[in-house]
Amino acid sequence: MWIDTHCHLDAAEFGGEQTQIAAAAAQQQVKWIVIPAVERANFGTVAALAARLPNCTYALGIHPMYVEHAEEADLLALREAISAAMADPRFVAIGEIGLDFFVPGMDRGPLREKQEHFYVQQLKLAREFGLPVLLHVRRSQDILLKHLRRIKVQGGIAHAFNGSFQQAEAFIGLGFRLGFGGAMTFTRALQIRRLAVDLPLAALVLETDAPDMSPAWLHPAANQPEQIPRIGAVLADLRSIPLAELAQATAANACAALPRLATLV
Ligand SMILES: [Zn+2]
Repeated sequence: MWIDTHCHLDAAEFGGEQTQIAAAAAQQQVKWIVIPAVERANFGTVAALAARLPNCTYALGIHPMYVEHAEEADLLALREAISAAMADPRFVAIGEIGLDFFVPGMDRGPLREKQEHFYVQQLKLAREFGLPVLLHVRRSQDILLKHLRRIKVQGGIAHAFNGSFQQAEAFIGLGFRLGFGGAMTFTRALQIRRLAVDLPLAALVLETDAPDMSPAWLHPAANQPEQIPRIGAVLADLRSIPLAELAQATAANACAALPRLATLV
């Protein structure tokens, strides 16, 4: 069995095809798909998808790329949505939250401050409710870590991880698993492939980030959760371990990172 720990199944790119896409993933033994929210306006959408589709779960949070147009009231709405979702077994984490210092203008000034504010407030919500977090990490590893050392959360997943080995170890030391997906399938992605081989298997989970981050064989077409076994095969190959062992280990790691998901399996 496989788990896609990060898939934006509600994205407009998928049109009305969510039912077929989730079913195609289930046919490839993708037992669970985690759908993170990105803004207040889609909290209801991701929850409704998870309620309707047999292999879907969801997270609630405000994505750093959506912080610019978010309001303080959205954090209050998020808290209320989390509070209500605690009774829903398909609700598994706070996310997608984090910091993006790659996009020009977001790495300094008021927008950076606003990003850090939303990240910190959402970490505090995760701590309050005892929930893991799904982290968006882009050129922001050290600042993300700084706040994680201060605000102790349950851990979670650093999604689409790209950083140094030392930064990876720091996330792992704080109880995080690292998400690997389509980027790893490109032979030129030397640093990501090196991490995928050198890090302990217990620290790795699989993700598509669909419709983004298409694997090499699909690029530039939209990524889909049914690609998880083939992405997993690349990781098994890089690590020279049997595919079944890789599937079992990454699914177990996802369950360890997301304890509410584990109770569903
Ligand atoms: Zn994402």
